[in-house]
Amino acid sequence: MVDLSCKCNFFVKQQSYASTSKNLKIYNFFVPLRDKARRMRIDIITVLPELIESPLSHSIIKRAQKKGLVSINLHHLRDFTTDKHRTVDDYAFGPDAGMVLKIEPIYMAFEKLQSERHYDEIIYTSPDGEPYTQKLANYLSTKENILILCGHYKGVDHRVREHLITREISIGDYVLSGGELAAAVIVDSVVRLVPGVLSDETSALTDSFQDGLLAPPVYTRPAEFNGWKVPDILLSGNFKEIEKWQMEQAYQRTKRLRPNLLKDE
Ligand code: SAH
Repeated sequence: MVDLSCKCNFFVKQQSYASTSKNLKIYNFFVPLRDKARRMRIDIITVLPELIESPLSHSIIKRAQKKGLVSINLHHLRDFTTDKHRTVDDYAFGPDAGMVLKIEPIYMAFEKLQSERHYDEIIYTSPDGEPYTQKLANYLSTKENILILCGHYKGVDHRVREHLITREISIGDYVLSGGELAAAVIVDSVVRLVPGVLSDETSALTDSFQDGLLAPPVYTRPAEFNGWKVPDILLSGNFKEIEKWQMEQAYQRTKRLRPNLLKDE
C-alpha cells in the first residue's frame, strides 16, 4: 500500500493507490522526515497571550509539550517596550482611523530572541499572506525554531514586514481581530506532525490533504442506530477489501467535494 520510494531532503515521498472504476491511480504525497531526537521550539509574540494560551494547553498539543517534543513560548510585546506606558501601538499615518503596532518593540523582541538562537522561519500572520495549507504545515514541522508574530488592530508597521520577517501566512480569506487565533491554527497543525506527537492510531498519514485526498468516512459502534447502518464492508474483517473501499471513498469524496485537489496531482 505504502511504498517509501524516494528520500528527499526534508520529506519522504510516499505513494498511495486509489482504484477508480476505470483505472488504478497513483498519488504521490510527502510526509515530513525529521530528526526524532530534535525538539521543536516555537516562539510567539503577541499583545494578547491569554487568547492563545488556552488552545495550546489541551489535548494533543499539551501532551506534545509534556513529552518534551515541542516547546511553545509566548512573549508579551509590552515586555519589549521602553517607555513608562509600555506603548505597543500608535495612530496610522494618513487619513484612515486605526492603530498600528509599532516597529520598535517588535524589533527589540526579535533582536533578543534571535540573539539566543537562529530561527528557521520568522512568520507574520496576515490576511494577505500566503494561503495556509497542509503542505506548508508539513514544511514547518521539519523546522527546529519558528518565531510567529501576531498582528493586531490595523496590523504592524509595514517596515516589519519589509525587513524583519521571512514569511507571511494567511489562514483564510477573512479578517480576524488579531493574529493569535491564526497562530494557534498554525501551531496546532504543525505540532501534530512532529514525530512522536500522534500515536499510530491517530496517524496524520490518513488525514485529509496529507495524501492529496480527503479522508474516507469513519464510523464506530453501534453498527446500527435508528435503522442507520454502518457499511457492511467495514464489519467484514477483510482488511484488504476495507482498505480498497476506503481509498475508493476518499477518491470519490475528493472528486465530488474538492475536485481541485485531483487537478493538482
Ligand atoms: N488591516 C489588515 C487586517 C488587520 S486584522 C488588513 O486589512 O489586511 C489584525 C491582525 O489580525 C492582522 O495584523 C493579522 O496579524 C491578523 N489576521 C487577521 N486576519 C487574518 C488571517 N486571515 N490570517 C492570518 N492572520 C490574520
